[in-house]
Amino acid sequence: MANFLKDNPDLEWYLAQGIDWDALLSVTERRFGPESFADPDEAKQFYRDSLEMIGQLAAEEVAPHALEIDRIGSRMQDGEAVLPPRMQAIFDQMRELELHGLALPRELGGQNAPMLLYFASTELFARADVSVMAHWSFHSGIALALLLYSIREGTTRFDPESGAILETRFARQIEEIRRGEASGCMDITEPDAGSDMASLKARGEQDEQGAWSVTGQKIFITSGQGKYHLVIARTESSAKEEDPVSGLGGLSMFLVPAYEDGPDGVRRRFVTIDRIEEKMGHHGSATAALSFDQAPAELIGKRGEGFSYMLMLMNNARISVGFECVGICEAAYRLASSYAAERRSMGKTIDRHELIADYLEEMRTDVQGLRALAMHAGFHEEMGRKLELQKLYSGLSPLEQKRLEREIAAHRSRARRATPLVKYLGAEKAVELSRRALQILGGNGYIREYGAEKLVRDALVMPIYEGTSQIQALMAMKDTLAAVMKSPQGFVARLAQTRWRSLSAKSSLERRVARLQLLSLSAQQHLLARTAGAKFREIGTRPLSEWPSALLSSWDPKRDFAVALLHAERLTRMLADELVAEVLLEQAERHPERAELCERWLERAEPRCRFLYDEITTTGSRLLARLAEEEEPEARAAG
Ligand SMILES: Cc1cc2nc3c(=O)[nH]c(=O)nc-3n(C[C@H](O)[C@H](O)[C@H](O)COP(=O)(O)OP(=O)(O)OC[C@H]3O[C@@H](n4cnc5c(N)ncnc54)[C@H](O)[C@@H]3O)c2cc1C
Repeated sequence: MANFLKDNPDLEWYLAQGIDWDALLSVTERRFGPESFADPDEAKQFYRDSLEMIGQLAAEEVAPHALEIDRIGSRMQDGEAVLPPRMQAIFDQMRELELHGLALPRELGGQNAPMLLYFASTELFARADVSVMAHWSFHSGIALALLLYSIREGTTRFDPESGAILETRFARQIEEIRRGEASGCMDITEPDAGSDMASLKARGEQDEQGAWSVTGQKIFITSGQGKYHLVIARTESSAKEEDPVSGLGGLSMFLVPAYEDGPDGVRRRFVTIDRIEEKMGHHGSATAALSFDQAPAELIGKRGEGFSYMLMLMNNARISVGFECVGICEAAYRLASSYAAERRSMGKTIDRHELIADYLEEMRTDVQGLRALAMHAGFHEEMGRKLELQKLYSGLSPLEQKRLEREIAAHRSRARRATPLVKYLGAEKAVELSRRALQILGGNGYIREYGAEKLVRDALVMPIYEGTSQIQALMAMKDTLAAVMKSPQGFVARLAQTRWRSLSAKSSLERRVARLQLLSLSAQQHLLARTAGAKFREIGTRPLSEWPSALLSSWDPKRDFAVALLHAERLTRMLADELVAEVLLEQAERHPERAELCERWLERAEPRCRFLYDEITTTGSRLLARLAEEEEPEARAAG
């Protein structure tokens, strides 16, 4: 029987050794015994069995039908979205297997598996078909978001002894999703606002009795046919003209049930599906344009907190897209390598031709490097979140509380660093590797039945949804440079330590990783020096401790950040290469058999980063001068 877990030694390695299951168990299972697993080994066996079952489902029931799902696509009928019959059958099977409860807490009827297991399952489904994966994620992904939201707003009660959930605000909706009777979606994008969320216009309004409703339009909503919509809408007009992001403060988060099915089976809709978009790829997945006309809504959290609630959901979703991209990359690599092993040209199979062999080796390295980054991001995100939950219900002494807080901060900071990078690198690699696979298949790559062109079409949306690659790059750049500006002393110390390690570390792998880090730090230093050039000159004579406040006073982000904005994507590529190298080095130090992978990664990453460093330090001045020149008359006319 085909199985996408069992045929994948790299993924198997994570299950067997690469993931710190004991740490995840310590935050996932409060106690072992009759109501949970007998012991950690039983839990780990259950995780393995679950992923093996999903690996088989993906390989046997999804992948063989991916081309048919793509050909038929989802469509509109009598105001509802209809999935391709094969896709519907897959979801019927998932319901029977109770898969939607995999990562939900036991108290809510779930199997209480770690989120990381759920993330790994998204890789398996995405390798088979991204449409199935996307719709799958809008089941438990939404149920978990509802639970997290309720915890954050304080409407979930825990047993102080055991930490078990006693009640939670959205228990009914979570239960419906768990049973596979409903799915959900995330409604952000509007016709005039995508990346620029501060411009969102859909309105949340409250009537005299205090009941909320939402009015407006949302577009491009994946699984928009689902019942439970998490909708971000404007409740306050806090936008100030001089500050383009101030509009974010006026947004609130709502739960909008899109319909209600009566006992007679007749459906009453509160949200209208205007159309199902005709897309380049992801044909099985319904991408809906929706109208809300005073649709009854429930406010989540407080008014004006919508953006921070949305970020909570998006962080998880971005990591999930990272895993989805690993699945696409794995599919591309396997399609290309199996074809190249069979296809003959000029006396040998094409995988024996140096050029193609080089492509294939780079693809294999990229898949493994990306998976390492995704596992790293998923692990720290889960640890940070679950330890935060522990803080809520465990009666700790002040000293223990402090230790826990430090632990949480460390996990959260690693997750924060990795999240935009895994979304960025994953998306770009999904496009690159699927395009490579198509090329390796030659003319057949362009022909539908081989599946390579589907992979390219499906991959091309990865750098667009869940925040475009450019938006990820801006986030990564701003976070990185802001951290340097917050602690210039720390940055100077890190620079010196890294330089020292690049020369004197015992292992050559460590020296090489340090050299990569040094390149990245030097690029950051260059950008900061250029960004704050005039200011640095102005404050250069002051003590280091005064730099942060002096730098940030009278700051004009538009003018002062131009160089960093221009090079944000280049810096992000370096940051991603650097973090993957760090994670692979850590693996190699604990498991010597992983050293070869770290070497393969470095062999490609080193020249890439040198090139990016050169681009950052030598290009852009001419373009920036032109942009500034063009903006001057505009600014004069406006002001
Ligand atoms: C198949 C599909 C499924 C989707 N699913 C969902 C969903 O479930 N829910 C949902 O709410 N949305 C969804 N979307 C919408 C998606 O999230 C948006 O398309 C995306 O955020 C980009 O917004 P936009 O299309 O308005 O592009 P724009 O924001 O207009 O961007 C256009 C280009 O400009 C770049 N750009 C914009 N601002 C900047 C800047 N400051 N600096 C540099 N470059 C910039 C962007 O990176 C992009 O390249 C989906 C889209 C597709 C295609």
